Amino acid sequence: MSELRELYQSVILDHNKRPRNFRQPEGANRSADGDNPLCGDKLTVYLAVKDGVVEDAGFIGSGCAISKASASLMTEAIKGKRVEEVEKLFAGFHQLVTAPPTAEVESAGLGKLAVFTGVREFPVRVKCATLAWHTMRSALAQGGAPATTE
Ligand code: ZN
Repeated sequence: MSELRELYQSVILDHNKRPRNFRQPEGANRSADGDNPLCGDKLTVYLAVKDGVVEDAGFIGSGCAISKASASLMTEAIKGKRVEEVEKLFAGFHQLVTAPPTAEVESAGLGKLAVFTGVREFPVRVKCATLAWHTMRSALAQGGAPATTE
């Protein structure tokens, strides 16, 4: 189990150091800001959604390793997926990080997102891990209108 944990940690560290899709994608037509004041994580998620498919996804922001790695892995996971599939991924991921530490959780189908299994042992970190996802969902909910901070 500790080997698995080390593997998980190395994936998170790698994505923190070299976040994927750390940019505003060309053609992004939705965005939302996310803020986790508990930890100081702040990010903006950008999506290019066309015909019900997330064609591109990116994020910009700053925060702890968990929040950045989560945003990085999320953008990789949702790219090219239909909005319904993205919602399913969110539900699976949310369950993964909020289930009681001793509960068996279904991580099949989550791919690399399963690296966040250990987060549920640290309740204060759950918000870090889910920030990008909540932000992505509020971007999706906009129906294509550009986000504004006003
Ligand atoms: Zn954080």
